[in-house]
Amino acid sequence: MKNNVSFDIISEGVNKRPICGAFGFSTSILLHDGDKHILFDTGSYGIRNKIKELIENNAISCLVLSHLHFDHCANIDLFKNIPIYVSKRELESLNEDKDINTYKALGFFINMFDLQFLSDSMQISPNVKAFYTPGHTAGHFSLGFECEGKKIIAAGDAVKSAMEYTSGELVTKPFDMISLKKTIDLIKNNFDVIIPGHQSPFSISNPIDKDVILTSF
Ligand SMILES: [Zn+2]
Repeated sequence: MKNNVSFDIISEGVNKRPICGAFGFSTSILLHDGDKHILFDTGSYGIRNKIKELIENNAISCLVLSHLHFDHCANIDLFKNIPIYVSKRELESLNEDKDINTYKALGFFINMFDLQFLSDSMQISPNVKAFYTPGHTAGHFSLGFECEGKKIIAAGDAVKSAMEYTSGELVTKPFDMISLKKTIDLIKNNFDVIIPGHQSPFSISNPIDKDVILTSF
C-alpha cells in the first residue's frame, strides 16, 4: 500500500441510540485512489439525496459493502450501473433468519446489480485492499489503505465506535464473538487509525470517544 489515497467522509455514523430502536446512521466514506473513487457503504436512507448526487456527478467508480445490515446498504438500489463488491457469505445471509438487522428485502432484487465477490487481501484499486473482518456478521469486510503516512482501516461495524473498541462492550450481539476478537486483534496489530462504522475516525494509540457531531450536507 502506498501513500496516495485520500478520503471524504460522506456521512459520519451515529453512536447513540434512542430508548427504542436505532437511528440507523452508519459511516459512509468515499476513497480516492488515482482515478478510482470507491464508496464504502451507502449509509442510511436519510443520506439518499447526497448519494444520488454523487452518482449523478459520476463521483463513484464502485461500491464496496462491509455487510448487509440495513443501515450500511439502504441506498443500494441507486447503484444499478456501478460495480458492487460484497462477500458471498454476506449474500447468503439474505436467505437466513439469524439476524433481524439484515436488509432481507434486498434478496428480492439482488439480481439487478453488477455484483463482484470480495475475497481477503483483494485489491479493489492499486492502493486499497479488502480485509476479511468477520464477527459482527459472518461475511463482513473492511478496507485498508495509507493516507498521509498512516495505515487506516475503514472498519465498518467490525469496530462501531471508540467506546466499543476500548471497553469491549458491544451494543449489538455479534454473529460470532471469537472471530470478532480475532478481527479486532488484526486491526490493532496492522493499523494506526480506525474509521468506525458509527463514529468519526480515531487513533488506535489514543482512542477518544467523541460526542456525535451531525454534519450538514
Ligand atoms: Zn452492522
